[in-house]
Amino acid sequence: MQVADKKVVTLTYTLSDPGGAELERSAEDSPLVYLHGAKNIVPGLEKELAGKSEGDEFQAVVAPEEGYGPKRGLKPVRLPRSSFAKDAELKPGIAFMTRGPQGQPMPLWIKKVQGPTVICSVEHPFAGMELHFRGTIVEVRDATEEEVEHGHAHGPGSAHDH
Ligand code: ZN
Repeated sequence: MQVADKKVVTLTYTLSDPGGAELERSAEDSPLVYLHGAKNIVPGLEKELAGKSEGDEFQAVVAPEEGYGPKRGLKPVRLPRSSFAKDAELKPGIAFMTRGPQGQPMPLWIKKVQGPTVICSVEHPFAGMELHFRGTIVEVRDATEEEVEHGHAHGPGSAHDH
């Protein structure tokens, strides 16, 4: 079976910057599971994976425009440490969801903790970066109607196990 719209794809990957430094990788015991054609992953990688089959290896060099977007130089947001849960892990790079001015869900990424203040970026840490992916397609299956309706994969390994 080939990767196409309305297929659920399981894959392992590593993501590196143009200099070859590893930025992230799928965990050994939990590969990435996503619904193809539903904007679950960056567009440049989704394009590269279309037509691949189980067992295929892939490599993709994704420009920022097809990745996490250009760096926009937006001002960091300063939040009081007290607005976080007491046991929250406040480390650089950690993402969390907050609410924007209109109440819309908005991701923030922690840049640093400065005394009582947590400085956060509204931009993805990989914005403006050329992304170098490599990995292997582990499994391709038909999505269920419910998955297509929800716009994401269900089941083990997916981010939406509900
Ligand atoms: Zn769902």
